[in-house]
Amino acid sequence: MKTSILTTLLLCAGMAPSSCALAAATLVKDVRVFDGQAVHERRSVLFDGGAIVDADYRGAPPQGARIVDGAGRTLLPGLIDAHTHTFRWQELPVLFGVTTQVDMFTDLTLMKKAKDEMAQGGHHAHADLFSAGTLVTAPNGHGTQFGVAIPTITGPDQAQAFVDARIQEGSDFIKLVMGGGYGMQSISLATARAVIDAAHRRGKLAVVHIGNEQDARAMLEAGADGLAHLFPAASGDAAGLARLARSKGAFVIPTFTVLESMAGWRGDDLLADPGLAGLLDKDAQAPLKARYGNKERAELLAAPKAVTAALAQAGVPVLAGTDAGNPGTQYGVSLHRELKALVEAGLTPAQALAAATSVPARVFKLGRRGQIAKGYKADLLLVEGNPAADILATRRIVEVWKDGESANGLRESQRQRVAQAAQAAPGAGKTLALPLSLPPDGRISQFSAGRLASPIGMGWSASTDSFAGGKSSVTLTAGPALADGQVPLAVDAKVAPGLPFAWAGLAFMPGRQPMEATDFSSVKAVRFKVRGDGKTYQMIAMSQGVQAPGASSFVAGPEWSEVTVPLRALKGIDPALLTVLGFNAGPQPGDYRFEIVDVRLVTE
Ligand SMILES: [Zn+2]
Repeated sequence: MKTSILTTLLLCAGMAPSSCALAAATLVKDVRVFDGQAVHERRSVLFDGGAIVDADYRGAPPQGARIVDGAGRTLLPGLIDAHTHTFRWQELPVLFGVTTQVDMFTDLTLMKKAKDEMAQGGHHAHADLFSAGTLVTAPNGHGTQFGVAIPTITGPDQAQAFVDARIQEGSDFIKLVMGGGYGMQSISLATARAVIDAAHRRGKLAVVHIGNEQDARAMLEAGADGLAHLFPAASGDAAGLARLARSKGAFVIPTFTVLESMAGWRGDDLLADPGLAGLLDKDAQAPLKARYGNKERAELLAAPKAVTAALAQAGVPVLAGTDAGNPGTQYGVSLHRELKALVEAGLTPAQALAAATSVPARVFKLGRRGQIAKGYKADLLLVEGNPAADILATRRIVEVWKDGESANGLRESQRQRVAQAAQAAPGAGKTLALPLSLPPDGRISQFSAGRLASPIGMGWSASTDSFAGGKSSVTLTAGPALADGQVPLAVDAKVAPGLPFAWAGLAFMPGRQPMEATDFSSVKAVRFKVRGDGKTYQMIAMSQGVQAPGASSFVAGPEWSEVTVPLRALKGIDPALLTVLGFNAGPQPGDYRFEIVDVRLVTE
């Protein structure tokens, strides 16, 4: 310890004060400590060189150490979000005290980059990443809808090769998707069993995404190490399910944050807290404002709460995971909501804190993190008050350290950047999107032989999966005019095989530039006339900050017919931040043809 402080002092000579400050040992003095499991009312914690030197330091402050006053405050291990999809916003988690993310499906390039940075050190600004890499799902299964081309599995005979390929790519554990829904396919029970066995044969954990109680039980019986998500409808035998999980030694990540999004629930607005909202620009706030469910159905949360309470009661490890990357969530900040949700479900605040620190570190075998103990990583969170008594105190962040380095410089510069951006934006942050100004008839299609005109925005264009690496193509042809003088647009689409979520069709952008958001909150529905080859098509909408489009299908029959798609049918998007409307063929490969005319936005 003495040596390292001496080294620090020597390094500081002739260095810029900022780099010097980064290298110093730090003593958080006279602070309440939640060590990952238990609360110690008054301790001093010394860390240096990225690791905790002494979790109960009793001596005089070491020479040269930075002293941080802990009075009235609580020091916690850096938080671990046990369920993320780390596609974007990698700067956010650390700002909110989340120093590790357990990712359940991300882009392999991003995963590799994060792992390289972790191996080299110097990963102070980003949360450490443990990842399943590519998830295990069926063709057209859950996980294939994000425009990222991924391999899929069709039978148990492929299980070992599939798992080995994931491990080869760098997956830390194996994530399976069991169950379909929303028109998506599922792997079979036999395939799931074979994948779990294949993972275990290689010493890897198998975590299963489930959406109903039957699958939850089947996966526990099959030897799953952990379940991701809980389900809205339950048999009422929560205790039985908890006993089964307990007997199998499995853990559960309920993911209340995303379940609340699906239930359309808005009861805990993180953005109402200026200390949190001040670190999120309007782009980063958008996913938190979105919900999967556009109508509130709080009753969908009753079963997950009851099951979580039973799990905790039975001693099943419950982990805090947000499913960040989905509508209704945001990286880092949402873990503070998840902690509160776990307490509302019946965990004590200390159990909830353990669910975001020592418990995920233990069950996912994340090494020396998740605890405040000698030799553990100096990933730390200092908050005002006592979160072991009032879980909301985790939101009153004083300072965050990642690998021993303070993130307060990052927090401060982010706060300034967000404040400046809000000031520079029209409406000083009040209006997040362009106002919508429509003609009286609401018509946005003004097609003519030479031109695809629109009264607003960038208007109409061809749209295909080519930007996601797909090979689909489309031809748009206007005319001839119908009896009422309106000119229809023929959409001839060739949807190519290859991408699991292939498409080709027609897009409408209401903004002045690509993907600029427009406020569609006054729009009730999109109404249009179609005819075509009798096939089924998707009307989609996208909103700022949300990756997956909301979709509703329609059939283009041989005669002209009017279709009305209520905006609330397009799940998961925020109409106040709408960026694109689309009329698409796909994902099944093939040739498609439909004509469309008289597209209107209906506001009453
Ligand atoms: Zn997920």
